[in-house]
Amino acid sequence: MKYDYDVIIIGSGPAGFSCAMQSSKFDKKTLVIEANEESFGGTWINSGTIPSKALRETARIIQRFQSQFDDLSQEKAYQHHQMQELLKYKNETLKSKNSKVENDFKKNEVDTVRGFGVLKEKNTVEVTSKDGEKTEYTAEYIFVAPGSNPLKPKGFDLDHNKVMDYTSVLNLTHIPRKLLVIGSGVHALEYATTFSNLGSRVSILNEAESFLPFLDNEISEQLFKLLEKQKIEIFSNAENIEIDTNSIRNTTEVRYNLRNDNEGNRTRVIETEHVLYLGGKIPNTKGLGLENIGVEMDDGGNIIVDNDYKTNIDNVFAGGDAIGFPALASASFSEGRLASCNMFGIKALDVPPEIPFAIYSIPEISSIGLTEKEAKARGYDVTVGRAYYKNITQGDISNQQDGLLKLVFETENLKLVGIHIIGERASDLIHLGQAVMSLGGDVRYFINHVLNYPTYSEAYRIAAFNGMNRVYKAGVKYKKILKNKE
Ligand SMILES: Cc1cc2nc3c(=O)[nH]c(=O)nc-3n(C[C@H](O)[C@H](O)[C@H](O)COP(=O)(O)OP(=O)(O)OC[C@H]3O[C@@H](n4cnc5c(N)ncnc54)[C@H](O)[C@@H]3O)c2cc1C
Repeated sequence: MKYDYDVIIIGSGPAGFSCAMQSSKFDKKTLVIEANEESFGGTWINSGTIPSKALRETARIIQRFQSQFDDLSQEKAYQHHQMQELLKYKNETLKSKNSKVENDFKKNEVDTVRGFGVLKEKNTVEVTSKDGEKTEYTAEYIFVAPGSNPLKPKGFDLDHNKVMDYTSVLNLTHIPRKLLVIGSGVHALEYATTFSNLGSRVSILNEAESFLPFLDNEISEQLFKLLEKQKIEIFSNAENIEIDTNSIRNTTEVRYNLRNDNEGNRTRVIETEHVLYLGGKIPNTKGLGLENIGVEMDDGGNIIVDNDYKTNIDNVFAGGDAIGFPALASASFSEGRLASCNMFGIKALDVPPEIPFAIYSIPEISSIGLTEKEAKARGYDVTVGRAYYKNITQGDISNQQDGLLKLVFETENLKLVGIHIIGERASDLIHLGQAVMSLGGDVRYFINHVLNYPTYSEAYRIAAFNGMNRVYKAGVKYKKILKNKE
């Protein structure tokens, strides 16, 4: 063998992990280099996806339990639960996930080495261990998946105690009575609703003009109603944010201005106990030696790849957060696998262009395809069908009546172009619609097939009937629609 390995992978997050698994299934000699001395899995397992979801799951269970019983529903989770116990559950989840990843590497004969990898040449990676020892490894292909780090805020510092980011929030020692989340993205909403369900009084300071503007309008409307119910306020258009401690009042003071303030640019102040800054991520591409071999990056430091996840250097591939949008674990798994297929010339099945996204707020939001507004802007003649959770039996049984499932479909042929859900189990529920959509199905699927009952999936049936009734009212013969299998 000309090289030590067929492929060397830098980073053991979802992109690196899936590239390693796929390569080993192709019988390729694979090495994963991981800089973290203690754990594999990167942001996915250690600081992002899984810990935030484990914490959210505990908050959700507590909220559901309390809301079930009238005498508990007015109480705050922090009256009964300690942050320590919540984090214990999270820590156990991480530990178990970590050892599963380690076992998967072993079982699949993937070699691993701890240390910081730097590209020296296009086939050579130098690894520096914790003790400063340097070792070189060579491979025919290199897959670069170093992930991303939290962006540092401008105008204030993180002390990781009163002012935290998504890594330090996981070390909180108590449930804050007041929390200000600074951020405009999905993680801001996730953490805001998680802590609100734990009893914290939460506000969101949003530097953008609007909050999650990509959501379907009706889902946004529902979301804002639900946030109001949880007493979560959103202050948008914030700029010049500064943070100080007020030792006399024992609070953290957040000062900011409003962009285009019609009240004369006065300074506004929010008093809080803790601040959680969720201002975005930057790719971990500095110091990796990418420039040594001339790998092209954009202005934001994201590695530029083609549709095969190949960089401009023919044996170097990249995936995950280091290549930018969508910067999700879900997409990273796919990118790592496809990069491996492309390296070794094994054609993978095409991945449909429509990918779903989920926001793990309480309640969840999930979407795939076009919003109603986008569909109309593209010239589609669309009809919508809606099912409100209050009309679904499972919603009654589970005491989860807040939610909406909305189908957007072409009026003429009933083909689905978008599905938008807010409510319990939205992130799972989307996949039924995704399957129908990607197989070219239409809304009649949900009427013609028997679905388990009671389930949240009943929402599809109700929304399909609701949409079909609207088409019927628009003058098309209802019987013909139901019979026509076209
Ligand atoms: C709070 C939060 C919640 C999230 N929730 C979700 C969610 O619900 N669903 C979802 O799909 N996504 C979610 N994400 C996004 C998801 O975590 C990331 O998109 C995903 O982890 C990126 O995977 P990756 O493989 O690119 O990198 P990472 O998971 O970051 O892993 C990169 C690894 O590379 C290692 N590394 C870096 N440089 C080197 C080097 N030079 N040598 C050796 N090793 C190196 C790092 O130590 C790290 O272990 C969330 C993110 C955050 C922050």
